[in-house]
Amino acid sequence: MHNYQIYINGQWRDSASGNSFDSLNPYTGESWASIPQCNAADVEAAVDAANTAFESEAWRGLTATARGKMVKRFGQVLLDNAEKLAAIEVRDNGKLYSEVLNQCRYMTEWFEYFGGLADKVEGTVPPIDKPKVLNYTRYEPLGVCACITPWNSPLLLLVWKLAPALAAGNTVVIKPSEYTSASTLELAKLSELAGFPPGVINVVTGYSSEVGEPLVSHKKVRKIAFTGGEEGGRQVNISAASDFKKVTLELGGKSANIVFDDADLDQAVDGAISGIFAASGQTCIAGSRLLLQDTIHDEFLERLVDMSSIAKLGDPMSEDTQIAPIANELQYKKILKYIDIAKAEGAKCVLGGGSATVEGNHEGLFVLPTIFSDVDNSMRIAQEEVFGPVLSVIRFKDEDEAVSIANDIDYGLAAGVWTKSLNRAVNVSERLQAGTVWVNTYRSTSYTSPFGGYKSSGLGRENGQQAIKEYLPVSYTHLRAHETPEHLVCRLLLE
Ligand code: NAD
Repeated sequence: MHNYQIYINGQWRDSASGNSFDSLNPYTGESWASIPQCNAADVEAAVDAANTAFESEAWRGLTATARGKMVKRFGQVLLDNAEKLAAIEVRDNGKLYSEVLNQCRYMTEWFEYFGGLADKVEGTVPPIDKPKVLNYTRYEPLGVCACITPWNSPLLLLVWKLAPALAAGNTVVIKPSEYTSASTLELAKLSELAGFPPGVINVVTGYSSEVGEPLVSHKKVRKIAFTGGEEGGRQVNISAASDFKKVTLELGGKSANIVFDDADLDQAVDGAISGIFAASGQTCIAGSRLLLQDTIHDEFLERLVDMSSIAKLGDPMSEDTQIAPIANELQYKKILKYIDIAKAEGAKCVLGGGSATVEGNHEGLFVLPTIFSDVDNSMRIAQEEVFGPVLSVIRFKDEDEAVSIANDIDYGLAAGVWTKSLNRAVNVSERLQAGTVWVNTYRSTSYTSPFGGYKSSGLGRENGQQAIKEYLPVSYTHLRAHETPEHLVCRLLLE
């Protein structure tokens, strides 16, 4: 059993109440770590530390270049420790080690990219309709930013927030999911090696009502970067609105993966499978609605079922495991409930449809890869996010119908299009209401490209150059003197 502590102002400590809770391994069912159960007093201490650090010479006094180098150094330290971080994350959320290790290795790129951007966010000198005025803009950090993360990819989704927030010169208070706090605390330990001044990075752990809500409503928090479910996102948005905090919300999805009859069907079958069964379907971008054109529907479904039926369930640390357990019991029960709902709605279960056991393991929270055909887009199984290995297959006749079904939903996070026609790829992509559209591939993201959703899938974007601006409001200075702007600049430089 590992006893973790929280990280505030560069110091490790127990929660103010002294309480803690256990973290469970979803494959073995064992408690393996004790996590501090924080409350509003810990939040207060963490925000205070972050606010003091934000004003400190040690942080504010750094040039953007020096700050960027520190951010890059952090990425290198994380890369050096990728195996260790990945193993801890798997112990907490049960995801395949191979997938988590790839994520942990990839994280370094966010620090390289945003560390590099730190000294490249330039203000402007807009010409102005007033004589003898020097008018210029500057991007300034906001202050304390709260980073709130879910359990499915705790470290990667934290890094999407942390790298731009720090590169921009803010300080952070991180609140990881109550199910997966250990890897974030390990990441905080590694931040010390990168040389961040005390208070720049702080981590508080615990439940949403005891930690998340006080953090979101804290007056000194100026920005909230939240990844999680729709309901949590709504509450965060409402709370943040009361004192006009900036928010980025990365929420759920019910993405349409559309296969046209001119697609490379082998590729598309692979894409449909990885779209829904990778990470046991516990990803916001899961291609959980598979839209098949009438003309290939039956053949495609047969191939899909055949290939999916041989997927190997097992230990997430084993190289040959393809389907890992569900991350926690609440989610496991939710998935099984949705399978019952789909059956009651009249969808036809053509694969799986229940829980599973794995030889030699009795505690793992396994759900069989499950495929429902004959799904109508109005059914709950088509409209609501299951966040599990459950695929809804829906028929369509032509492009118009495919687009109409794909967009007929409250979510708008991602979509897939499988076709050999370039025209069709471009036309359909443009008509889809989704923050990300993949053509002839699925599930790939990058630090260079904006990620986020429409409608109930969220607000704002992470990744890509503009993501740093989510942490850097612009202000302008309007400097009037009895000289021309050019003379003014010369005089300012000489003084
Ligand atoms: P969740 O909303 O239950 O919790 C996410 C985090 O927010 C946790 O740390 C939780 O404690 C905290 N939280 C919840 N309500 C809060 C509130 N009112 N105030 C402050 N903090 C609060 O989500 P989850 O079950 O951990 O994660 C699964 C969800 O996350 C799914 O809906 C999934 O689609 C979504 N998700 C979205 C993305 C994306 O990038 N769009 C990525 C991964 C997961």
